[in-house]
Amino acid sequence: MDIGDLIIILGPPGSGKGTQAEMLSEKMDYNHISTGEILRGEVANKTDIGQQASKYIERGSLVPDELIFDVIKNKLNSINPKNGFILDGFPRNIEQAEMLDDLNKKIDLVIYLNVPENILIDRVLGRRECVECGAIQDESLTEDGSCYVCGGKTVVRSDDDREIIKHRIEVYENETHPLKDYYDEKGLLVQVDGTGAPDEINNTIKDLITTRLYSRI
Ligand code: AMP
Repeated sequence: MDIGDLIIILGPPGSGKGTQAEMLSEKMDYNHISTGEILRGEVANKTDIGQQASKYIERGSLVPDELIFDVIKNKLNSINPKNGFILDGFPRNIEQAEMLDDLNKKIDLVIYLNVPENILIDRVLGRRECVECGAIQDESLTEDGSCYVCGGKTVVRSDDDREIIKHRIEVYENETHPLKDYYDEKGLLVQVDGTGAPDEINNTIKDLITTRLYSRI
């Protein structure tokens, strides 16, 4: 099978993974796979997976690996692999990274978005989710609070609450942060400063991808 690039975006909650992955998917034609977004869709549609996942999402814990494995396998099998993938929010722990290794899809690059914790909390508390298209965005993007992508209604994500976000950052430190060394040891990790304007960060990432993978644009 002809498989396009496989890029992972890694970073704490609020580091801008979703925003950057979405921008790259638009500019470079990657499939953007956000496990958080898929799970929120399953919850909204009250599917079996959604009903099992919701209690973990609500309290800011990780959904059990077995559920995520099903979600990710279904998704990877349902899209055109030639366009390449950007994984946002997966893997979230070493077990999930090993599962991805077992799928024999070669990982080309892991981008780590570096953002200090005080900025993370402010960013998460100021963000909104569109109930129509699922886009996550800063509340300042439109004056009347409508979605900057589709004009739909935006709401605060139920797990973007101050106490829950603190827990999500702890979960990140304990379970997800070890992936930084995991991929660094494989020579795949590149760190990017995630504190600037989204466009500038995106240009840095695009340049990195172009240099490292000699690919599209
Ligand atoms: P995110 O949109 O990536 O911040 O994810 C929101 C929530 O979905 C997380 O706090 C977890 O409860 C759940 N989640 C998303 N991706 C994963 C994953 N790979 N493994 C376990 N839980 C996940």
